[in-house]
Amino acid sequence: MNEQQRKQQSQIRTEQANVDRIKKTSSEDMIAKYFQQEYEPQSPDIKQARKRKREDVQFHYDFSIPEDMEKIGHGKKFLIRTYGCQMNEHDTEVMAGILSEMGYESTTVTEEADIILLNTCAIRENAENKVFGEIGHLKPLKLENPDLIIGVCGCMSQEESVVDRILQKHQHIDLIFGTHNIHRLPHLVKEALFGKEMIVEVWSKEGDIIENLPKARKGKIKAWVNIMYGCDKFCTYCIVPMTRGKERSRRPKDIIQEVRHLVAQGYQEVTLLGQNVNAYGKDFEDIEYGLGDLMNDIHKIDIPRVRFTTSHPRDFDDRLIEVLAQGGNLLDHIHLPVQSGSSEILKKMNRKYTREEYLELVRKIRIAMPNATLTTDIIVGFPNETEEQFEETMTLVEEVGFEAAYTFIYSPREGTPAARKKDDVPEEVKKQRLYRLNELVNKQSAASMKDYAGKKVKVLVEGESKKDPEVLAGYTEKNKLVNFKGPKSSIGKIVEVEITETKTWSLNGVMVENTVEVN
Ligand code: SAM
Ligand code: SF4
Repeated sequence: MNEQQRKQQSQIRTEQANVDRIKKTSSEDMIAKYFQQEYEPQSPDIKQARKRKREDVQFHYDFSIPEDMEKIGHGKKFLIRTYGCQMNEHDTEVMAGILSEMGYESTTVTEEADIILLNTCAIRENAENKVFGEIGHLKPLKLENPDLIIGVCGCMSQEESVVDRILQKHQHIDLIFGTHNIHRLPHLVKEALFGKEMIVEVWSKEGDIIENLPKARKGKIKAWVNIMYGCDKFCTYCIVPMTRGKERSRRPKDIIQEVRHLVAQGYQEVTLLGQNVNAYGKDFEDIEYGLGDLMNDIHKIDIPRVRFTTSHPRDFDDRLIEVLAQGGNLLDHIHLPVQSGSSEILKKMNRKYTREEYLELVRKIRIAMPNATLTTDIIVGFPNETEEQFEETMTLVEEVGFEAAYTFIYSPREGTPAARKKDDVPEEVKKQRLYRLNELVNKQSAASMKDYAGKKVKVLVEGESKKDPEVLAGYTEKNKLVNFKGPKSSIGKIVEVEITETKTWSLNGVMVENTVEVN
């Protein structure tokens, strides 16, 4: 952490010895104290966010757990509940790593936990509602056990309205910290434990890049690797540029070292992570090095599978296509969020490409990678979307032949430009559109699955199927879920499976004898 960040940090300490005292304090008092402090309210503000500059990102390689916190968790347990995207899942791995280094053990039993963290998502209103529901459910537990530390972190904690609401209505929360404050977890836990204070630490300025954070990864087969943080695209519906800060890329050597390290530990697959990975390297001032270059370097590493997510079509350049076309460990499944098939809506979304440009990009990808599978994200019911504009989305889905899509009804997010727009599309119409779109996507997915009948596919075996422990489950190179009968010894390996049955979203099969790849 540097001095500048310290100045920018928004830290509130309210006097609050325990839950009883919280209950006695009126919410008005709490809020008055909250705003008396140096904290500057940070409603998501697009104008402010756009003013941010590229400079000032510093790299830190000296993270360590303070000596007096190394054993603080001995005999205690933590539970982190994660909402939202892969970025949050990976942040949870980092927080779990930090807590483990402090001596805590993980648990999945809420009643057993001494620390509960809710790692939240702000992307849509229903994601936020779920979190507030969970915050409410945890209150009796805190009343029973005042020593329990409950924390709220992740994207929601970057929103002033959320912090405000927690202070007013959910005073059983001990700790709120932002997406740029994760490495401060040991200090925050210490303050929550010993100071018996309610802590709010939300840095409005994005953090520097902290390199050697510990990670307690979920599983030993597939791993997330952050390649960049933040987003500067400012799509008009999206809160991410405000909750995650400006785009900042990790140095190539650090990423490559992390991937090599994962190989040494036996991982079979890495997914390179960022909100907009195609912008990787654009913030480097000393080197010309983009996602294509990084993929090219990772291509040479002996790891069987490399994926990346999420791609923004605008920055998907020819260099990347050329590199991906080499194949090998670079898989030919590309997740390319389109959001809408209407150029007019795309313009209003500030996506900075037209329908035609998106289709041209797809054409180029298909020339270079004829077998590539494309999947996407789509929003229906953007303010004032007409039936014709929605139809354009439907025709684009057909034309591209997406094999899967994450589909959403537009959800207004406070502080984003789209949320200020009047919207004349009734909710019922939006739901109908989502239904029609999902029907089409399901139909296309099922049709793509049918092509696999009788074929052999390579499956990275992840473990027993959730529904039947006698059945194993894993994913193909194109990310299709396969359930099959095979020996447990194949877990963690890539095996060949012959497909015997196809469903809309998964395939069933039998393992081809003696096909375990020794990696
Ligand atoms: N960076 C990625 C991109 O540009 O496609 C997307 C990241 S965002 C976490 C995941 C998806 O959530 C988006 O692709 C979009 O479809 C959806 N999303 C974002 N904001 C939304 C909103 N306000 N309402 C509904 N869906 C939204
Ligand atoms: Fe949000 Fe993705 Fe647009 Fe960034 S590129 S603003 S994360 S939708």
